[in-house]
Amino acid sequence: MGVVTVTAETAVPCDVDLSATLQESPRITKLLQDARDLVPGMSGRAQILDSEGRFPAIDFDLLRDIGALSSFIPQRFGGLGLGVDPGGASELFPLLRLIGQGNLAVGRIFEGHANAIKLIHTFGSEAQIERASADLRAGHLFAIWNAETKDGIRILDDNKLSGSKTFCSGAGHVTRALITAKDSCGTRMLLIPLEPGERVGSTGVGMHGMRATHTASMQFDGVVVSTHDFIGTIDDYTREPTFSAGAWRTSAVTLGGLDALLAEMQQQLRARNRHEDPHQLARMGNVLIARETARLWIERAARMEESIGSSPATITGYVNLARVAVESAALEIIRLVQRSLGLSAFLQTNPVERLMRDLAIYLRQPATDEALTEAAAWFLERDFPEDDS
Ligand SMILES: Cc1cc2nc3c(=O)[nH]c(=O)nc-3n(C[C@H](O)[C@H](O)[C@H](O)COP(=O)(O)OP(=O)(O)OC[C@H]3O[C@@H](n4cnc5c(N)ncnc54)[C@H](O)[C@@H]3O)c2cc1C
Repeated sequence: MGVVTVTAETAVPCDVDLSATLQESPRITKLLQDARDLVPGMSGRAQILDSEGRFPAIDFDLLRDIGALSSFIPQRFGGLGLGVDPGGASELFPLLRLIGQGNLAVGRIFEGHANAIKLIHTFGSEAQIERASADLRAGHLFAIWNAETKDGIRILDDNKLSGSKTFCSGAGHVTRALITAKDSCGTRMLLIPLEPGERVGSTGVGMHGMRATHTASMQFDGVVVSTHDFIGTIDDYTREPTFSAGAWRTSAVTLGGLDALLAEMQQQLRARNRHEDPHQLARMGNVLIARETARLWIERAARMEESIGSSPATITGYVNLARVAVESAALEIIRLVQRSLGLSAFLQTNPVERLMRDLAIYLRQPATDEALTEAAAWFLERDFPEDDS
């Protein structure tokens, strides 16, 4: 396969082989168009799903129908290779953004699905990737559940599991869960098949936002695992750069939420005839700058994830900076939207109220201080800090 020349528009110092993706571009273009068509309906359903804390089943049926869930099947198994094949990260970016624009809760679950498949593709055996591809074709929803409290999952000597996971998005609806579990050697990844509704612990944890993610604890006591359930080897889950680099996907979904917020801000300012006021104009200008800043960071972070010319430390450092930059941009946009729309932005009848709640929750990603300071340390330790490629 030849290496495609990087155009001025996509000029980023990386040497990603995009040829495989380009061969499939008509199918990807169709998928993106179909996803774009789903956005208004998704946005329209978001309010009621949030107020009832209901899993977005219709949205996932529709995403399944257009082939979004199975788009992660590698090209060698007949799929689109989104997020897994060379060049697939950049192709996944607009899809994540569109779904985030439709409903951040759907985006959060969909990103978990993408993350799980990426981990299986990176660390699993060829047979496991093939089996996961068959599961994707059959319509299964995947998730990665890592968060846990003190009773985190242990693998006992008889290959039985004990313990639970917390903050499991899509609980009761995910039918292929990639979970982390500890044995005496370290942390392992296990792919567990689930029946709908099975093993769901406490729901309704009173979440401020992201209520439609159907996030709950999951009990795994007594599950017996076999060797082919293990994905990768000891501590692969936290292996860099995979562990940090995938954070761009969460940021891409966040960007979709910011798109939705901007659209509401624009439309509501116009509806109240406040859009020509110089203060409102200045705020809108700063909101646009912040959103574009976020987009530029994410676009490059997606390319960095699969840049074969960059060291793991460079990829990790860059994507960590990107995630902090996106968080800062989003918090600034929320502040400006609140100033622009005033109290009306806080009414439960206003979509902006839900969007801001969902964003506030979604921006709480693990160990943000560490992401920033480790990236700063990476920069300070380099011999040629002016070379940021
Ligand atoms: C709706 C929702 C759905 C979720 N779905 C999933 C899921 O499907 N799968 C999954 O695995 N997880 C899921 N999670 C959990 C999520 O991935 C993170 O665990 C969670 O968002 C972490 O946020 P936090 O702000 O509490 O992080 P923390 O890392 O606890 O950060 C809080 C603050 O403490 C600081 N800090 C962190 N570590 C230390 C330390 N050691 N010492 C001092 N300060 C520290 C941070 O920098 C930050 O300032 C979900 C969460 C939510 C809200």
